[in-house]
Amino acid sequence: MKILKRWSLLLWLGMAQVWAAQAPLTEPELSLELQQLEDETPPLREFRERVAALAAHGEDYSVEAQGRIARLQCWARPSERDDDYQETVRLADEALAKARARKDRITESGMLACRAFHQQLLGNMDAARQDYDDALTLARRLGDSRQRADILSLRGEMYSYQGEMAEGLMELMDAHQRYEDLGLESKGREVLAKIANAYRRMGLYERAEGYFQELEYDYRKLGDKEHLVDIHSQQGLLYTEMGEYDRALPLMAEAEIYYLTQQQEGMLAWSRVEMATVLLNQGKTEQAMAKLEQASSLLHRGKGTDSVTRGHWYIVMATTLDAMGKSAEALRYLDQAEPIFAKEQNLRFLAWVHEVRARVLERQGRIKEALGNLKQYVKTKQALEQMLREQRSLQMRFEFDLARKELENQTLRSQQQLQAEKLKQLQERRYWQYLVVTLLILVMGILVIHQRGRTRKMHRLAMTDELTGIHNRRQIQAKGRKWFNEAREGGKPLCVLLLDIDHFKKVNDTLGHHVGDLVLTAVAQCIEDQLRSLDRVGRNGGEEFLVLLPDTRLDEAAEVAERIRQQVSLLNIEGVPEEHPIRISIGCAEYRPEDDNLGELVRRADEAMYQAKLAGRNRVVKAA
Ligand code: GH3
Ligand code: MG
Ligand code: MG
Repeated sequence: MKILKRWSLLLWLGMAQVWAAQAPLTEPELSLELQQLEDETPPLREFRERVAALAAHGEDYSVEAQGRIARLQCWARPSERDDDYQETVRLADEALAKARARKDRITESGMLACRAFHQQLLGNMDAARQDYDDALTLARRLGDSRQRADILSLRGEMYSYQGEMAEGLMELMDAHQRYEDLGLESKGREVLAKIANAYRRMGLYERAEGYFQELEYDYRKLGDKEHLVDIHSQQGLLYTEMGEYDRALPLMAEAEIYYLTQQQEGMLAWSRVEMATVLLNQGKTEQAMAKLEQASSLLHRGKGTDSVTRGHWYIVMATTLDAMGKSAEALRYLDQAEPIFAKEQNLRFLAWVHEVRARVLERQGRIKEALGNLKQYVKTKQALEQMLREQRSLQMRFEFDLARKELENQTLRSQQQLQAEKLKQLQERRYWQYLVVTLLILVMGILVIHQRGRTRKMHRLAMTDELTGIHNRRQIQAKGRKWFNEAREGGKPLCVLLLDIDHFKKVNDTLGHHVGDLVLTAVAQCIEDQLRSLDRVGRNGGEEFLVLLPDTRLDEAAEVAERIRQQVSLLNIEGVPEEHPIRISIGCAEYRPEDDNLGELVRRADEAMYQAKLAGRNRVVKAA
């Protein structure tokens, strides 16, 4: 009876599924389904099934919906082996061409991000970077905060993986903030896990552990098994790095079982290699070898298996063979591992290869070659440590700024509250507490005198950009909105310039963040020097400046812009080599009666600026 019941239930479920797969969704159903798939993070298998169901009716839906489905499809593709990644890149190429042909920019940006991620899985880091950069530029141009968060989350993780820790962390935190602002909790949690990993890679284990525990609690409460296993396996990595192998092993074993039941072969192989690493560290060489053999059947089945996991397997295999005294075999595997990590630019694993090889060669009595590898190991390790030191101080400065801003905001808020409350009291009790009120006013007077200095300073801090001393984004945008309204009401002209430093990331990367900061300050000053007293300039974010030119026509604005561009290129800044002067790209736009708000005006300037970038940078472009 029971069995019969179960069968009929299964039958019913099956039919429901068939039915779901056959009928196209109505407009509101479709919109809800798309939103859920984009904003939530269902288990992978369910995600794939739901996306496939949508795609089956692709042609029935609007062009916009088709674009969104195409993007989801890219993320729903099988993702276990190099073959899969390559196929996804190829499909993304096609979808990109289509999106470009119909000028569907949001799909273009999304497909670029998806292609970037799969290039990254293939170890093609330069291609990945290029795609992420292009995707981000597009998303920024579209003013799409959600899209930016998605890309920052992906690119931040890549930066962190490749050792650019501070940069990665900053992007991940930016993404997290954006998701929070948008109320996208499950996306926020995914970024938090990446932040925890970034801390692990920086060696800040306690912090990483704190984040993981928080996430573990959340996912447990939500009953989200897939994410829980994911967190556990990452905790496993953390404990392995901390040398706490007894804690790491059961977590990795849990992941192994889960991926086995889910038939996710790529992840299964990965978890087995990690288990082997732990076992090896525990001195259980035989067991490590057994795990590696299990993983081997998954990794060497055909040519297209995941090369990065394979590289990892080669190293652990080599280390295990070395522990068993089989040095000739160990060397063979090391030779296979090295090119994979060289291509990936993965210094941490390259250092490991050199270290093991030096040991094996020494055992074979090939002292000179061993020494060569030891030297390489030391050099790579030093480079890594140097990088880590720099990144840590950057990260500390960044976090310090963040904490300070939060503190300032809090102080400002509580002061405002205090004043508001006092005013309320004054009004309520004014009749029968005459005396008290007079006294209160007196006390307040004294307080106000005391506080005035501080308040003014805080006010200034809240309005100006700390680094450059010019208006911050909030202030320049507020001013812009005010002038925009005046232009609309008074029919007076108004122009805006959007200026962005060219290849500024390169300045940071090659000359250091300190010089980057000097450049920002010098450019801000230079812009200000070129303006009339009634014009305004503000730091709109990062290395981008917004200038407001009241009572100015587009042609005049372009002249001002050209003057600024020339003066900036003549700047002499400490630490910047003369043969590589700082250059900027500028977009100009003029207020039009059909502009609804400042955002639209700035967007046109941004678009013109983007055109200037595309046309080779270091130039001024007027918005059409
Ligand atoms: P493009 O010519 O396309 O504008 O290239 P870019 O490298 O200037 O563009 P991108 O927007 O990718 O890089 C901007 C960089 O600005 C990234 C970020 O690290 C850096 N940056 C943002 N704020 C600051 C800051 O306060 N100080 C320093 N030193 N760098 C900053
Ligand atoms: Mg720039
Ligand atoms: Mg920029």
